[in-house]
Amino acid sequence: MQILDGTLVSAHIKEQIKQDVIDWQATGGKKPHLAAILVGNNPASEAYVGHKVKSCAELGFESTLLRFDPSITETELIAEVKKLNDNADVDGILVQLPLPNHISGDNIINTIDPAKDVDGFHPISQGKMMLGQPTFLPATPYGIMLMLEHYNIDVAGMHCVVIGRSNIVGTPMTILLSRNTKPGNATVTLTHSRTKNLAEITRTADVIVAAIGKPFFVTADMVRPGAIVIDVGINRIDDATKKSGSRLVGDVDYDNVAPLCSYITPVPKGVGPMTICGLMMNTLLAAKQKASVAVS
Ligand code: NDP
Repeated sequence: MQILDGTLVSAHIKEQIKQDVIDWQATGGKKPHLAAILVGNNPASEAYVGHKVKSCAELGFESTLLRFDPSITETELIAEVKKLNDNADVDGILVQLPLPNHISGDNIINTIDPAKDVDGFHPISQGKMMLGQPTFLPATPYGIMLMLEHYNIDVAGMHCVVIGRSNIVGTPMTILLSRNTKPGNATVTLTHSRTKNLAEITRTADVIVAAIGKPFFVTADMVRPGAIVIDVGINRIDDATKKSGSRLVGDVDYDNVAPLCSYITPVPKGVGPMTICGLMMNTLLAAKQKASVAVS
């Protein structure tokens, strides 16, 4: 069994991005600038945004974090996104999800200028991805593809079972895995909470991507020996042995599943750091594309 080490791979990719930014600036390019919007103070969202802002500093990007009280209205938040759209210095915009219930995530995402949609959630980005046109890929599935590429794992012809059909992880994952470019060409099954006989399906999988949000959901009896398991889940569970009283686990029962696998991602330090890489790659691309539009 080999661990797919997201920390290691992301460090490698980040070095490349960092050098790319240096080269870009040497030819007159400006620092890529990511603007992040955080509404409220959900501890998980705080942590995710914190990692993204820190990564910007590491890579020589500029970042702006805009924090808003959870009482902000949808109209006010839309106005804030529009300001970022109009700000010529900002290359990429991300809105940390989830948003408070009184704000429609769709309405906010739809407001982002597609040229700055570095999370790849805008309908234009998603539509282009589906058609195989160049665009910003959703950061988590993009990060997983970068990880497969790094380890030279060729999923062509393999049966990949994706558990979870969200617009940001499960569904785009199926599209990228089934594309006719490397690392794709897989045969993909998308499963969800209404899927019957899920364990029977996952036992036929060469690759399982778990994006459910339920700790220890994928158990050893659901996994074929030799399978590749990608665990996207991030769940906080109580753990009295930890100083904080809790710890992070994925959607996979790692201790019992890992010995069966050919490759597996741990949680933490698996898909999480790769998601940030995907976001940073998109932000650099956005900066370069904006500069080339300005010149032409
Ligand atoms: P969502 O809650 O949007 O989607 C969860 C999916 O799981 C749904 O499609 C749901 O099915 C499916 N599901 C729920 N219960 C079952 C079940 N019993 N059997 C089969 N499928 C089931 O979650 P996200 O996609 O946003 O995130 C999934 C997980 O990944 C979360 O833990 C999240 O924190 C984590 N995450 C991690 C990231 C990273 O960088 N590592 C980035 C983004 C998310 P249905 O549609 O039928 O309800």
